[in-house]
Amino acid sequence: MTEPLVQITGVRELAHDLVVIPDRRVQLVPNIGLIGGRHSVLVVETGLGPRNAETVLKFATEYARGRKLYLTTTHFHPEHAFGARVFAGEATFLLNRDQADDLKVKGPGYLEMFKGLGEAVARELEGVELARPDLVYDREYDLDLGGRVVRLRAVGRAHSRGDQVVRVPDADVLFAGDLVEAAQFAIFPWFPPHDTDVSGTRWLAVMQRLAEEGTRTVVPGHGDVGDARLLADVRDYLRLLRDETWARRDSAMSEETIVEEISALMIERHPDWAGREWIEKGVGCLCSEHPA
Ligand SMILES: [Zn+2]
Repeated sequence: MTEPLVQITGVRELAHDLVVIPDRRVQLVPNIGLIGGRHSVLVVETGLGPRNAETVLKFATEYARGRKLYLTTTHFHPEHAFGARVFAGEATFLLNRDQADDLKVKGPGYLEMFKGLGEAVARELEGVELARPDLVYDREYDLDLGGRVVRLRAVGRAHSRGDQVVRVPDADVLFAGDLVEAAQFAIFPWFPPHDTDVSGTRWLAVMQRLAEEGTRTVVPGHGDVGDARLLADVRDYLRLLRDETWARRDSAMSEETIVEEISALMIERHPDWAGREWIEKGVGCLCSEHPA
C-alpha cells in the first residue's frame, strides 16, 4: 500500500479562488478543497492524522495570505476528519450536528479499527486527538467568505450517519465526500454489529436528489474531479445494486449466492472500477433494508 500521505502536487484551480489538492488516487488520501472569498478561506477535509493535517494547514495558511480560515469535513471518517485537531486555534471548525455526534461517539472506535489496517496507517494516526467543532449547525448553513457564500448541507444518513455536502453556487462546484467516488464502487462501511449506520436506500435517495439538482463540477471523496455524470453514475449503481439484491432476496436465495451473482454482474458492468470488495458490503446492507 502506498503511504497515505497528502502531497501538495498537481493542485488544480477549478474556478477562481477555488482549488483542489488531488488524492493522486492513493488509498486513504481524500481530495481536499480550498475555497476562498474576500476575507476568509474554507478548507474541506484534513487528510489522515496530524502530519497530513499539518501539510494541509501550511498550504492553507500560505494560500489564505492573511485571510481567516474555516475548516469543515464531509463526514467523520479518519482520512477526512482525523486531522482537525491540528487546526485548533488556526481555523474555525464547522460541522453539521450528526457528523459532530459521529466524530464524538464513533471516532474512538474508528481510530482503533484504522490503526489495525497496517503500519503506514497506524503511523499517521499516532497522536490523534479527536477535535470538537467550534460551530455546529443542524440541517443547513450558509458560510459567507466575503463576496462568496458557500452552502453547507447535511444530507442525512447515507454513506455515514452524518454526511454533508459543500456547494459553491457561483462556481457551480459540489464537494460530495464519500457519497461519490470516481471510478470506484460505492464504499459501504457495513460492519455489523459494530457499524450499521450506512443506508443504501437513503444513500440512493440522496443521489437522486443531487443528480436532479445537477452541478457543473463534482469533487468526489476519492478519485478524479468530474462533472454531473459522476452523480448519475453513483445513483445508477446504487439503484441497480438495490434492485438486483432485492429481486434475489425475494426468491429466498442465500446471501452468499446473492453476493456472488451481483459481484459478477457489477464487475462486468464496471471492469475498470476499483474497490470490488465493497460490492459485498453493499449487498449485505441492502439485504438488511429489504422491505419484507
Ligand atoms: Zn468515508
